[in-house]
Amino acid sequence: MVEHIHAASKTKWDVLVIGAGAAGLTAAIYTCRKKLSTLVISVDIGGQTLLTQHIENYPGFFKETPDYPSGPKLMQIFEEQAKYFGAEVIMGKVTKIDIINGNPTPENPYKFALELSNGERYEARVLLLTYGKVPRELGIPGEKKFIGRGVSTCATCDAPLFRNKNVAVIGGGNSALEAAELLTKFANKIYLVHRRDAFRADEITIDKVKASPKVELVLNSVPTEIKGEKFVKGLVVQNVNTQETRELPVDGVFVEIGYIVVTDFVKDYVDLNKANEIIVNENCETKIPGLFSAGDLTTIPFKQTITSAGQGAIAGLAAYNYLMRMEGKAGVKADWT
Ligand code: NAP
Repeated sequence: MVEHIHAASKTKWDVLVIGAGAAGLTAAIYTCRKKLSTLVISVDIGGQTLLTQHIENYPGFFKETPDYPSGPKLMQIFEEQAKYFGAEVIMGKVTKIDIINGNPTPENPYKFALELSNGERYEARVLLLTYGKVPRELGIPGEKKFIGRGVSTCATCDAPLFRNKNVAVIGGGNSALEAAELLTKFANKIYLVHRRDAFRADEITIDKVKASPKVELVLNSVPTEIKGEKFVKGLVVQNVNTQETRELPVDGVFVEIGYIVVTDFVKDYVDLNKANEIIVNENCETKIPGLFSAGDLTTIPFKQTITSAGQGAIAGLAAYNYLMRMEGKAGVKADWT
């Protein structure tokens, strides 16, 4: 649940950013440095990067650098940097977006309005959608019942709770393999359950997981039920080739099977691809002038903190250029020609 700490200092802004992950906070750094008043509204600070314990592929930081940050620490620095340049950041859940003025003018420049779940309302000249994705669910019996009672979608948050216990991790991507790797530091045994026999994670992470004697690979298998009474006690898996079922004796189930985009409140204003991602061009523009999107919820390939931050920078500068064009002024050049 979103804890609403305080309302913003005013209701009308040059730029509203929905989502405070790598994309949104970077966009805010760029718009603030262009002296655009910028409000960031989000349900958390840091987005998906919060889930990464050690971020080794964000250039500038790795194990050998001083002050090598965790994902949450890196995102805290992003937030501090955005605020340093003048951004306001508030916690809140956006429930509605409206275009209140299809033809903005210098006298009446506010085009977008949005509402939060607590009824607060903000207006802006430009809107940036950078709110990322939410974890995909398995949709099997027991999953919802045991969430927080053994079922988790955040190994970084919950791994320490499973010291000396047996756990299952489901999935074959970077999230699942990184979760399994982290859990080797706490759990007694980790069953890595994947529906195929090949992983899609980075090879370096796959090697680390395979090298751990604590990890048992349960391949070509899908989970069918999470069992327990008050807390998780087992995970039933079925081999997709033999149809045989087996119950893994686990206290924890980490569901790490990717993410989906929530588009309910924006679908009228943007085009979506088959994966429900927001279609943007190379300037992070949607089909509505003044409405930009960046990061994991867009069609950008290779979802990474660094790619989201890069796209956030593009969105921030493109938003600035859009506003300069509206005022008949020159914007930032997109190249050096
Ligand atoms: P992902 O790459 O989409 O992988 C999801 C995994 O879950 C796949 O192995 C998929 O199986 C499996 N899966 C999907 N639906 C399933 C279902 N209903 N039942 C069972 N298994 C299911 O998702 P992710 O690992 O969360 O990563 C998301 C993005 O973030 C990726 O681009 C990833 O590279 C990135 N990421 C990067 C880092 C890093 O670089 N350090 C860390 C975390 C995430 P199939 O393989 O058969 O499709």
